[in-house]
Amino acid sequence: MFNKILIANRGEIACRVAATCKRLGIASVAVYSDADANAKHVSACDEAVHIGGATAAESYLRVERIIEAARASGAQAVHPGYGFLSENEDFAQACEAAGIVFIGPPVDAIAAMGSKAAAKALMHAAAVPLVPGYHGDDQNPELLHREADAIGYPVLLKASAGGGGKGMRVVERSDDFLAALASCKREAASSFGNDRVLIEKYLTRPRHVEVQVFADRHGGAVYLFDRDCSVQRRHQKVLEEAPAPGLPAEIKREMGEAAVAAARAVKYVGAGTVEFIMTATGEFYFMEMNTRLQVEHPVTEMVTGQDLVEWQLRVAAGEPLPLTQEQLRIDGHAIEARIYAEHPARGFLPSTGTLKHLRMPEGVEFVIDAAGLGEPGRKAPVRIDSGVREGDTITPFYDPMIAKLIVHGSTREEALARMSRALHACEVVGSHTNVEFLKRIVESEPFASGDLDTGLIERHHDALFAPVKKPFKEALALACAALLTREGGTAHGASPWDALSHWRLNGGYTQTLGWRNVENDSVFTVTFARDGAAQTLEHDGVREGFSWSSGAGLHEYRATIGDARATGRVFIDGDTFHVFCLSHALAFEWQNLLAHAADAEHGEGRLTAPMPGKVIAVLVEPGTVVEKGTPLIVMEAMKMEHTIGAPAAGTVSEVLYAVGDQVADGAQLLVLDVQ
Ligand code: ADP
Ligand code: ADP
Ligand code: MG
Repeated sequence: MFNKILIANRGEIACRVAATCKRLGIASVAVYSDADANAKHVSACDEAVHIGGATAAESYLRVERIIEAARASGAQAVHPGYGFLSENEDFAQACEAAGIVFIGPPVDAIAAMGSKAAAKALMHAAAVPLVPGYHGDDQNPELLHREADAIGYPVLLKASAGGGGKGMRVVERSDDFLAALASCKREAASSFGNDRVLIEKYLTRPRHVEVQVFADRHGGAVYLFDRDCSVQRRHQKVLEEAPAPGLPAEIKREMGEAAVAAARAVKYVGAGTVEFIMTATGEFYFMEMNTRLQVEHPVTEMVTGQDLVEWQLRVAAGEPLPLTQEQLRIDGHAIEARIYAEHPARGFLPSTGTLKHLRMPEGVEFVIDAAGLGEPGRKAPVRIDSGVREGDTITPFYDPMIAKLIVHGSTREEALARMSRALHACEVVGSHTNVEFLKRIVESEPFASGDLDTGLIERHHDALFAPVKKPFKEALALACAALLTREGGTAHGASPWDALSHWRLNGGYTQTLGWRNVENDSVFTVTFARDGAAQTLEHDGVREGFSWSSGAGLHEYRATIGDARATGRVFIDGDTFHVFCLSHALAFEWQNLLAHAADAEHGEGRLTAPMPGKVIAVLVEPGTVVEKGTPLIVMEAMKMEHTIGAPAAGTVSEVLYAVGDQVADGAQLLVLDVQ
C-alpha cells in the first residue's frame, strides 16, 4: 500500500479521499488554487501545495504543475477525484511517465470510454445493447440532419467528449435540427475542446439506472449493484439512490453482468460506472461509462458497507479486489441529495456567496469501516460529505455544490422519512439553495412511490414550484423577538427601546417595526406594545398577546403569539433576519428607517447579468434592432450556458462586455433603447 498520495482535486471529493487516507494511515497532499488557500480540503490533508490561479485552467487542470507537486512532495500516487483531470488520458499518461501511480483505469481504457461515440462502437462489438442512433465519424451537418430524420424525432444531440449534461440538445422537429447542432457544437468546442457530436433517439419517460463496477489487475471484475439517478434537472442528477427501486432481480443481474462485460471489453481496472438508460418496460441501453469515482458513490457505500476509495487505493497498489461477487451483499436502502448553491425558481441558475450560517443535520462525516472483509461496515443513518464550512465562500470558479446529504434505512420508506427529516434540519444563509426544492421532491407522491423517470421534475413542475404555505405569523414573531432582543441589548444601559426607530410613551411603549418579506418583496409593519407586564403584537389589523425568550442554543428563540407557539433559530445578517422554524426558512428585512435610502430603480433599458459568469458570445452590436426575446448575449456560469434575451423590442445602443470577459452578478451587460 502507498505511504503518501496526492489528491488532485478540491471540495467534498478531496475531503472524502483524505478521510479514507487518514483511516488507512496514508499521508495525503492537497493542491489548491488562489481561491482555495483556506479551503476545507486543504486542512483535511496533511500537506498542501499551491498550484496557481483561481480558474480551473490556471490550477486544477494544470497537468505539469500537479505532477511537479506530486514529485516534490514524494507522493507515490495521485487520486484525481471526479471532474477536472479525472478522465483526462494525457494526465494519466503524464503520471505514468513520471513514475507516479494514477489511481484510476489504464490510459487505454480512459481513451476508449472518453469518446461516447467510440465507446458505443466498442460496446456494440461487445454485444452490450445501445440506443438507436448515429455515432459515426462523418460530421457533415447535412449528413447528420439526414441521420436525425431517419432516426425520427425527438432526437438527442450529445457532445461525444461531453459530461455533466453539457452540450446536450433535445431536437423536437427536423426544422430545428441545424440550429440545435450549431449550438451543441459551440458548447462542445468551448467546454471539451472537441465539437464531435452523436445523435440518439430521445427516449420518453426513461429511467437512468447505472451500475458500479470494479476490476483489478488480476482479472477480477465485479459489480457493486445499481443506482437510480433518474431525478435530474438539465440532465444533471439531483437525487440518487441504491438499489434502484422496483426492478426485478433478473433485470438487475442482467445489467450487472452487461456492465462487467463492458468493463472487460476495455480491460478496465479500478472503479467505474456504466450508465444505462431504461425504458418503462425494463429494456436497458448503454449510455456511457464514467471512468472514475462517481459523485453518487456514497449510496453504494451505504448499502454494501464498503469504502470504495479504499478499494480504489488497494487496486491501484496492485492488490486483488477485496471481495468476490458472491461475497457482496446489499443491506437496506440509501438516498443521496445534492445540496447546491443555486436558484431553482430561476431555472436553477447557480448562486454564489459567503456561507454566513451553515447548519447541517446531525450526521457523521464519514463512517464506512470495512475492517472485516465480507462484514457489512458500520453505517451511520445520516452522512454528510461536504467541502465547505460556515464562513467559506461559494465562488463562480467551481461547481456550486454545498454538500451531499446521504441517508440509510432498512427500507426505502425508512430512508425517505430520514431524508425528509434531514433536509428539514438544513439551514443555509449566504446563497440561494435547492434545499426547499429537494424537500418538495422527496415528499412528492411520484418520488415517494418510486415512480421515477428523468422527466419527473419537469412533469411535476407546477406542483414542485407552487407557493408553499409557510408559518408566517410564527416566523414573524421570532424575527421581532430577535430584533427586540438585539436592539435592547446594544443600547448602553438605556431603555431597551431607545435604539428602535419609533417609540412613544403613553402608559406603556409602542413601537412600529417596518419589515420587508424577502421572498415576495412585500413591505408591512408590525406594532409592538407593552403596557406593564402585557405585551402585544399587531399585524394585519389583528392584535394578539406576544411573549418571547431566548432559547438554549445559539441564535435560538421561543415566541408565543396568540395561541401559536414556535421555537426556532434567527440568524441576523445585517438587516436581514433569517428565520428557521417549523421546518421552514423565511427571511425578513428590517426597514431600518435611519439607514434607508431609496433603492435605485432598475431602468427599463438596462440588462444585467443574472449570475456571475463569463461572456461566451455577443450576438448583437450597437445599432442592432431587436424584438422582445431576441438572444443578445450568451453567458456561461459554472457548468451551464445561458442565453440572455431582450426584455422588450428596441435598439441596442451600447454593448459593455466582450467575449471572454468575466462578469459579476448584476453587472449591466448592454444598453437597450426600448421602443
Ligand atoms: P455524469 O458524469 O453522469 O454527468 P455526475 O453528476 O457524477 O454525472 O458528474 C457530473 C459531471 O460534473 C462529471 O463530469 C463530474 O466530473 C463533474 N462534477 C460534478 N460535481 C463536481 C464538482 N464538485 N467538482 C468538479 N467536477 C464536478
Ligand atoms: P453526461 O456525460 O452528460 O452524463 P449522458 O449520456 O450520461 O451524458 O446523459 C445524461 C442524461 O441525459 C441521462 O442521465 C438521461 O437523463 C439523459 N439522456 C441521455 N441519453 C438519453 C436518451 N437517448 N433519451 C432520453 N434521455 C437521455
Ligand atoms: Mg452521464
